[in-house]
Amino acid sequence: MCEFCMQHGEGKKWYLDAKNYGEDLLSDAKLRKLQHLFGNHPPSGEGIHEQMDKLDQAPGFIRRLMRGKIVRNMKKLHYGQIVPIEDVERIFEFVNSIVRTSCICRYLTLKEEKRYCYGISLNPNSEKLSSIFQGVEGFSSGPDPKGTEVVSKEAALASFREHEKEGLCHSVWTFATPFIGGICNCDRPDCLAMQMTVVHNTPTMFRAEYVAETKATECNGCRQCMRVCQFGAIGYSASQKKADIDPRKCYGCGICRSVCKQDAIILKDRAQAPAAANIW
Ligand code: SF4
Ligand code: SF4
Repeated sequence: MCEFCMQHGEGKKWYLDAKNYGEDLLSDAKLRKLQHLFGNHPPSGEGIHEQMDKLDQAPGFIRRLMRGKIVRNMKKLHYGQIVPIEDVERIFEFVNSIVRTSCICRYLTLKEEKRYCYGISLNPNSEKLSSIFQGVEGFSSGPDPKGTEVVSKEAALASFREHEKEGLCHSVWTFATPFIGGICNCDRPDCLAMQMTVVHNTPTMFRAEYVAETKATECNGCRQCMRVCQFGAIGYSASQKKADIDPRKCYGCGICRSVCKQDAIILKDRAQAPAAANIW
């Protein structure tokens, strides 16, 4: 279990605990802070890679100090976790409103609206969440004049399944931890959190509560899974003609599983993989 499961989930998966979706967790003061962050002064995507490259080159003690500070702040304000599609389904079972909106990472990095992000709430009329998502000028100027499209659970899940086929992995997000208000479909080139976490060794998201494993007897060595893994976790044995997943690198997104026509990949609890059990 990740530390949020212990702190906010009573030792179970924290993002499956409905109380973490209650807007009562989002006080007016916290809401204003988030509106300020995402609305008036969104986290600057511009120059972030250059800034992080610079930090990567800094002396060790400065790197440790700055990375620690960033991670602590993000854990309080806006932190995520990779979730496989079956847990997306479970989340959709108990939330009462889902809105599709632009992904702020892609807006900041590509300067384009890409509607990969979903606001989720227990509240059927989530004004608090809308006020966060609609804050950025241009960010939410899509087909709906208010910038967010209300979607049914079925339609949202169908989109997530399509995104999974495209190789995007799913992640849940806090908006003032532990309040969970969003779920997204991410890939490494465009997702700032994945860049921070994977490229710059400054985690802003946890790995999933799972790791993937191949069934050697079923694998035919087609390598399709290697093509979609965003985390470089899958190797290939030329002598055995089989894929091999390194549990220490695996984020447990399950995207490889969805492209394996042999059904040769399973997800198992991270706790059952000793090499990965304590890697988040
Ligand atoms: S996609 Fe499946 S069958 Fe193909 S290499 Fe990967 S695990 Fe093996
Ligand atoms: S090997 Fe792990 S990280 Fe890579 S696609 Fe599969 S589940 Fe995701």
